[in-house]
Amino acid sequence: MSELTVIDGFEFARMGRSLSGKMDVSRMDRLADLLYSKSGQVDYALAGGVDAEGAFLLHLAIDGVLHLRCQRCLGDIEYPLGLKAGLKLVKEESDLPDIEEEDPDVDSIVVKDKMEILSLIEDEILLDLPFSPRHATCESGSEIVRESPFSILKDRI
Ligand SMILES: [Zn+2]
Repeated sequence: MSELTVIDGFEFARMGRSLSGKMDVSRMDRLADLLYSKSGQVDYALAGGVDAEGAFLLHLAIDGVLHLRCQRCLGDIEYPLGLKAGLKLVKEESDLPDIEEEDPDVDSIVVKDKMEILSLIEDEILLDLPFSPRHATCESGSEIVRESPFSILKDRI
């Protein structure tokens, strides 16, 4: 497993670099409260690029299965991740686009030169997770109610 977990995001995008690996779920501290079990790993793939307007982009894909804690019965919910995120890198808050002008498939983020891949992965997973994960019916097991407050919020803006 690669221990390279800090990148220079702008350089990475400009050079069109790519990187993939596995990340232990147990390292994702901000997820801990939501998890039934910290076992396992997620696969990630990160690719940099520059768009036609010269903006620096990162494409992040995350695959794996998380074990979330059901908020009703406290049982195990298998939650498959199949995440793809497009991120546009900007240097200053003032460079962020107005929300109505923003491409809905691309999130703009303010980054310093050094980006921690772990926290990037954590951020994207947290955005994807349901606010209050629970089984559709607790007795029958693993199916989850899939509703993310973030996606609802996004549709309203
Ligand atoms: Zn349940």
